[in-house]
Amino acid sequence: MKFDEYSISEGIKKSIAKQGFKKPTDIQYKSIPPILRGEDVLAIAQTGTGKTAAFVIPILHLLQVKKTVRKSAGIKCLVMAPTHELALQINEVFVSLSKHTKVNSFCIHGGVEQDRQKEELGKGVDVLIATPGRLFDLVSQGDVVLKGLEILVLDEADHMLDLGFIKDIKDLMRHLPERRQTLFFSATINEKIKKLAYSLVVNPIRIQISPKDPVAKNIEHAVASIEMDDKRFFLGNMLAEHPDRKTLVFVRTKVRAERLKLALERQKIEAITIHGDKDQKERESSMQAFRKGEQKTLIATDISARGIDIPNVEFVVNYDLPESAEQYVHRVGRTGRGREKGQALSFCATEEVALLEEIDQNLGKPIARLEISKKNYQMTKASVTENNNEEDWKSLMEHAAIETEAWEKKKKKRKKNKK
Ligand code: ADP
Ligand code: MG
Repeated sequence: MKFDEYSISEGIKKSIAKQGFKKPTDIQYKSIPPILRGEDVLAIAQTGTGKTAAFVIPILHLLQVKKTVRKSAGIKCLVMAPTHELALQINEVFVSLSKHTKVNSFCIHGGVEQDRQKEELGKGVDVLIATPGRLFDLVSQGDVVLKGLEILVLDEADHMLDLGFIKDIKDLMRHLPERRQTLFFSATINEKIKKLAYSLVVNPIRIQISPKDPVAKNIEHAVASIEMDDKRFFLGNMLAEHPDRKTLVFVRTKVRAERLKLALERQKIEAITIHGDKDQKERESSMQAFRKGEQKTLIATDISARGIDIPNVEFVVNYDLPESAEQYVHRVGRTGRGREKGQALSFCATEEVALLEEIDQNLGKPIARLEISKKNYQMTKASVTENNNEEDWKSLMEHAAIETEAWEKKKKKRKKNKK
């Protein structure tokens, strides 16, 4: 099946061709028809398999067709996403595929002034892409009116329905018309969240692709035993060996991101960081530099784990193990997107072994082990010269103290949750 054969507007087909998409991916093939029929859909497919266009294409067609007959003002489709970067990225897909339609889209997220967003909303928006916090503010102030909404999309649905966001989403649903089409998209979902999703919709069509192995097939991934204090040497070594390889490094905390950047600097390796403590401008410029390949190494917290589609990320490093198997799937899923191949390596220290076992178990099959011989391990450590100075060490010690405290708190919380 080719996109040409779909009964969707010619303008959309033109834009699809411009993107270089020849035929639909599996998830697009399965999702586009029921969405065009107006059904509710819960779609689960691995990372990097084109889920965004799987909902953008049929939504644009539905709105394009209706718009010519009704021309009613107001937001017709709302897409919710967990982070600013992902919301902006989804909007980019809407913008590029709607070029030859009458449908327009706009993105609102926190971290920037509301005024320009209000002004734009006042002019009329068909598709609104939003993060929950800012959306909720603007809804309660009356700047976003959703009573004419026809389609609601939750991208990264399991995350949006989980602890941090569920209250906002449920509150929001009260502002929406009962008769609407609801679409859930994600690479991962557990039984509890699936039930919750079902409770929010009527007779959804369930589409699930390759549920057995949640890690996308284009990703070759392994884990190596590397002690906490040695991790920076191993990473430095890998980065020095492949200076042109686009590498995304995940760490557990914002503090660790900055601390790792300094540690790499002492090995004369340049890296940039992205995390929740950076302001919006810095976040966008880091992302842009990495996207364009001007910077080869990006150190990130989990805010960049979900949905972000950066071309040519060849290597993902879990410098710290993620907190869950889902998180693992999303982090390594930043590589091996579309038809690209990718590699991922996780560093596991002795204190993380329990976490690794839990991840292994929940993934359904254990992550391949990369054995490093004692000799190689020692050689790697010995090969690195660090450019130390006292200032750095002082700030490192301070960071370490703050971080230990945060880690202890988190550990307590995990224990409590387990009970
Ligand atoms: P997901 O949401 O499933 O993780 P994305 O929607 O971000 O994946 O898409 C991953 C990549 O695949 C993007 O770079 C996108 O441009 C590309 N892509 C999407 N659909 C197609 C297609 N039909 N043919 C080729 N590439 C595609
Ligand atoms: Mg996605």
